[in-house]
Amino acid sequence: MNINLTAPYGPLVRRIETEATVIGDQVLKIDHFLNHRIEPGFITEMGRELARRLAQFEPSVILTAEASGIAPGLVVAQALNVALVYAKKYAPQVESPAISRVIPSPTKGGETKLVLSQRYIVPRDRVVIVDDFLSNGRTAVALIEMAREAGALVLCTSFIVEKRFKPGHAAIEALGVPVATLAQVEALGNGRAVLTQPES
Ligand code: 5GP
Repeated sequence: MNINLTAPYGPLVRRIETEATVIGDQVLKIDHFLNHRIEPGFITEMGRELARRLAQFEPSVILTAEASGIAPGLVVAQALNVALVYAKKYAPQVESPAISRVIPSPTKGGETKLVLSQRYIVPRDRVVIVDDFLSNGRTAVALIEMAREAGALVLCTSFIVEKRFKPGHAAIEALGVPVATLAQVEALGNGRAVLTQPES
């Protein structure tokens, strides 16, 4: 089976090009269908497309981070019929033993702690990570490290949107983990997002 993990997903690329808000040359906002208001039909379609690419890894669990990873994580987990586990940020009291990492908060500034109970990621698990955005990769790298510390195998990471002008994609591949994405932002500026185009 030869599935392109980063084939641009046409319906998402078109919506980002026509509807996204671009802030400076760093931040892309698609709050109206992914990060503040969620469209169940569209996110389910995107989850199915990611799940189609990820099925080959035969995950036993999907792992994400609170809060914006939960919606995309859930639709992928549902499509693959496995559980979703999310690392906690906001009420990090979890059953012990627990694993944690401190990461920079990319959109808010400052730092945030991710906490994961070892009760929910166990040594035999085959983990696929799902998140909304890939930027510097600090969130995904922390999730990979935590899953590995729990003794699990990390098979793949996946994101709705990746910013190709940031180092996250390379940082994850340097850990030997592949990256699947539905939209690839090449550049941001002048109120516009430049995206990799789907093959027609
Ligand atoms: P990283 O850890 O890869 O630097 O950043 C990933 C996290 O930061 C994502 O989970 C997402 O919540 C947030 N993020 C990073 N860049 C953007 C962006 O351009 N737009 C939005 N909406 N979120 C972003």
